[in-house]
Amino acid sequence: MLIDSHCHIPHKNYNMTPEEVVLDAKKADVTKLISIGTSIEETDLVVRVASQFPNIYPTVGVCPHENKDVPLADLEKDFRKVLSKYKEDVVGIGECGIDISNWENGRKVEEQVELFEMQINIAKESSLPLIVHNRNGDDQVLKLLEKHSGMELRGVVHCFDSDWDFAQKVLNLGFYISFSGLITYLNKKDLLEVVRKVPMNRFLVETDAPYLSPQEHRGQVNYPKYVRIIAEKVASVKEISISEIEENTYRNTCTLFGI
Ligand SMILES: [Zn+2]
Repeated sequence: MLIDSHCHIPHKNYNMTPEEVVLDAKKADVTKLISIGTSIEETDLVVRVASQFPNIYPTVGVCPHENKDVPLADLEKDFRKVLSKYKEDVVGIGECGIDISNWENGRKVEEQVELFEMQINIAKESSLPLIVHNRNGDDQVLKLLEKHSGMELRGVVHCFDSDWDFAQKVLNLGFYISFSGLITYLNKKDLLEVVRKVPMNRFLVETDAPYLSPQEHRGQVNYPKYVRIIAEKVASVKEISISEIEENTYRNTCTLFGI
């Protein structure tokens, strides 16, 4: 059994209903899905769809470039409002973090840092795990996680795309690392060193569906069922049986999200 620790349901890109996506996943023995929120206005839909399935667990979060026109103080109020409305349902805060890319009309890094820190504080207060999005933001991410480190801050760096040095630092802060389809890409061979070295009790697997399809499906829509491809890749890199990968990532994901 596998859990997709990071996907987006519903999403128009699937060309499938959530029922079909879930059924498809089940056929591949992917039995639980963490459905990740990316903006305030999306939360209602993400939580409502998740509530229709016993095996979809929603989160609430604001991505670095979402809700850009709302002043941070208002965004924080809105965030707290949806969180209190859905606190029985959501299993995590995020995705949130740092995204330094040529995003059109995106937030400046300083503003991203403020938005990220706001969500770190909420994660700590609500004792929910943090789902960290990190694109070219190792320094900023590390600085904030270190500043807030301690028993109350737990979480995962999703779609891991940094080096072993960074991995060790986040592992030392008690964070988990989540591997995605990136580890199957031919130009991401360096990532395999991290896959090889990260301890069995500290990593998760994810698809980030409908984005980021694994190599063999590149250019097409990604689905939660493909998390099996990621798990198989990890098994081959670590030279460990797939069943051991399944057991460990299943347990790690349940532990992190309290499901
Ligand atoms: Zn995502």
